Amino acid sequence: MSEVAYRSGGPQDRPDGQSEERNSQDQGASYSNVMAYTSQVLGLIEKEELSKEDSEWIKFETVNGYKEHVNPGYLFSRKTVDMNKELAFVEWKDARNSFIDIDGNEYIDCIGGRGIYNVGHRHPKVLQTVMNQLQKQAMHTHDLLDPYRAILAKTLAEITPGDLKYVFFTNSGGEAVESAIKLARKATNRHTFISTTAGYHGVSLGSLAATGKAFYRKPFLPFAQNFRHALFGDVDMLYKLLKSLEIVGEEAAGVIIEPIQGNAGVRMPPDNYLQEVRQLCDEFGALLILDEVQTGMGRTGKMFYAEHENVTPDILCLAKALGGGIMPMGAIVASEKVYESFMEEPYRHEHTFGGNTLACVAAIATIHVLIEERLPERAAVIGEYMLKELRAIAARYPKLVQEIRGKGLFIGVEFFDSVVGFEVSKGLFDNKILVEGTVGDVKTFRIEPPLTIEQEQVDRVIQTFDLVLSQVQRKYNFIK
Ligand SMILES: *Cc1c(COP(=O)(O)O)cnc(C)c1O
Repeated sequence: MSEVAYRSGGPQDRPDGQSEERNSQDQGASYSNVMAYTSQVLGLIEKEELSKEDSEWIKFETVNGYKEHVNPGYLFSRKTVDMNKELAFVEWKDARNSFIDIDGNEYIDCIGGRGIYNVGHRHPKVLQTVMNQLQKQAMHTHDLLDPYRAILAKTLAEITPGDLKYVFFTNSGGEAVESAIKLARKATNRHTFISTTAGYHGVSLGSLAATGKAFYRKPFLPFAQNFRHALFGDVDMLYKLLKSLEIVGEEAAGVIIEPIQGNAGVRMPPDNYLQEVRQLCDEFGALLILDEVQTGMGRTGKMFYAEHENVTPDILCLAKALGGGIMPMGAIVASEKVYESFMEEPYRHEHTFGGNTLACVAAIATIHVLIEERLPERAAVIGEYMLKELRAIAARYPKLVQEIRGKGLFIGVEFFDSVVGFEVSKGLFDNKILVEGTVGDVKTFRIEPPLTIEQEQVDRVIQTFDLVLSQVQRKYNFIK
């Protein structure tokens, strides 16, 4: 069906020399297919309740659409699709801390959108704010001054550490990192950077150069943006890189750090790491860029990870939870001294949708909710409880679990091998708990729920973790 629907049919594509008229008829036919298809879908979106027939149709269209038009690779790498049994779990709606699939199964969300749902799913205050704004205006003029950009910037300046003051808005974390790179280059007149091994900063070409994993980088080397990588946590190596760059006349413009390495499996920094990095940056005149795209907005028990170490970066990168899990939103916040270099020509670096009206009001409401509901504190308390309970359970399965670590509600569970990790994450899924981890890459999985997760849900996760480990242990003993 879709083959017909989306055939382009331009005359230049037709070596058989079909007439112009025939082509426009084809286009008419395919447009009418698209009209029928999209009307059906718009009708489904409007519906409160789906019929059995509706949900079967959607499941078929979803699997088929992934196979034919998205990327079939996803179907073989997710625990939510079982190709043999032809089972597919398709998301449909959500509740505060959970997702409900199209068949009505409800899952406790311990992925938290990889860090976007800090205030919970569709927090009523954030949702209402965005809906109120939608009644007035959705996007900005690009000409008149937009009030919420100014108001959100002032609010961010207020809550971020030290003298961070000027804000530039993006649509994503990768764009925030790109912006930090450009700002640091402009502010220092230098162009070489240092990041750390295994860090994750995004996949756009500039941010990818900063990212520290071969998996993401290797197929796309070399990069125009020049990055060296120090081993994460190794202050001595960072010193040596800064020093050698100075000797060869390529002084570092900046050092970018992901304070807890999320994508790498919640790898924790050594004590006082950021303080020592801050000192080195000052010594060599390099800017300290903190990538708090995932650790920010309360995740680790403080509004920003930098507060744990009392460190002020020169540039702070934010995204993910900033838009409250309702609007995509990113930002960099910089000190006045650093931002000065962007002031003379503001139009030289900006994004069409960056700081759009809906995203700004969503972020204002999100910050309000984080403070009102004391969610950073909540992350600290519940995180500590979870860490303690999960570790007590893991101690009873010393052959399976290697280490459990984390801070706040940012927890990594590391197994001795990724087969066991997958078994456990699949077992949790079968018991309706979502944790981050896909086929073949689950040596460590992340537990990163909304900071609004209820005590009762936390206890269910803990009990189920125990149950699943006992099942996997039995299977593992049997295989051995
Ligand atoms: C997710 C993430 C990014 C990239 O953000 P995108 O919105 O996916 O571009 C950058 N840095 C960190 C630390 C992240 O976790």
